[in-house]
Amino acid sequence: MILITGGAGYIGSHTVINFIKNGYEVVVFDNLENGHQETIDTLQNIGNVKFEKGDLRNIEDIEKVFNKYKIDAVIHFAAFALVGESVENPSKYYRNNVFGTLNLVDTMVKHNVKKIVFSSTCATYGEPQYTPIDENHPQNPINPYGNTKLCVEYILKDYDIAYDLKSIRLRYFNVAGCDKQTRLGEWHEPETHLIPNILKSTLGKNKTFKIFGNDYDTPDGTCIRDYVNVEDLAEAHRLAYLYLNENNKSDVFNLGTEQGDSVKKVFDTCEKVLDKKIPVEVVNKRAGDPAKLYANANKAKDILKWKPERSLEDSIKSAYTWECKQIQEGK
Ligand code: UDP
Repeated sequence: MILITGGAGYIGSHTVINFIKNGYEVVVFDNLENGHQETIDTLQNIGNVKFEKGDLRNIEDIEKVFNKYKIDAVIHFAAFALVGESVENPSKYYRNNVFGTLNLVDTMVKHNVKKIVFSSTCATYGEPQYTPIDENHPQNPINPYGNTKLCVEYILKDYDIAYDLKSIRLRYFNVAGCDKQTRLGEWHEPETHLIPNILKSTLGKNKTFKIFGNDYDTPDGTCIRDYVNVEDLAEAHRLAYLYLNENNKSDVFNLGTEQGDSVKKVFDTCEKVLDKKIPVEVVNKRAGDPAKLYANANKAKDILKWKPERSLEDSIKSAYTWECKQIQEGK
């Protein structure tokens, strides 16, 4: 049985689908603070997914799961992930992302479960010293969210040495798109991310799409990011789990497409894919946005044999179908 924490969230739920499709038994642990019961219902309609509602900040909640099921490995997503909120309320982030993870890994060690795939982030690198960013790039996060993820990376390294807990730390770049069959999608409240915000403006939700700054030191002046498709990302988690099983060795991998796309390029691609004019204005820069972030993901390709297969257009198309479905369902 694979335990997936945060399996009711965006990346977590897509990873649940990937694991059940590949024949694994899965139990999802989620407090449904940001995840949705409807996502759990969808997952349970697709396959045999157990669900345990609980909060990692209560060690008894997680202890119950380890007593109830024979867990072989953990894929750990559950975390808060809004940079701005982490600056205003670091306590919330440290309590959940760090203290919650400590509860999880202590319970794993107690129950002799020795494999974890951890959802880390390129935010642990901070302001890039060079691009593309490889795994050896110095880690100097510039906000509490990134700090909490880096803290967990340290915890996992130390728990390997002391307790033989093996971990794969996956540092994601930007994630986009949704399940090809539109059963799941990106569903954040509030929505802060680029592609859903562009798409929502075409559907009258936010009216005018706002570009945060166009005088960055990039060819068209807008920020460059690396948008990896969520189904490709989900697959990387299964490959990471297989790697842990086969090699019993901790490691760290960047996950990105290695292609830097500017905000303007993403916006233009949305207009092209949708064949629509989208209302847009340029506003002030958002605090803490580095000009350029994109991955060198050679290590994941060489060692995990991971191959991101879906294009930016694919991600935009699936995300748009999802947004339309959400509107039809009155969300
Ligand atoms: N962005 C934007 N308008 C929006 C949302 C995002 O211009 O409504 C820009 C943002 O400044 C960044 C890029 O799009 O340069 C990606 O932002 P997102 O929040 O999707 O992901 P992040 O890179 O912050 O993880």
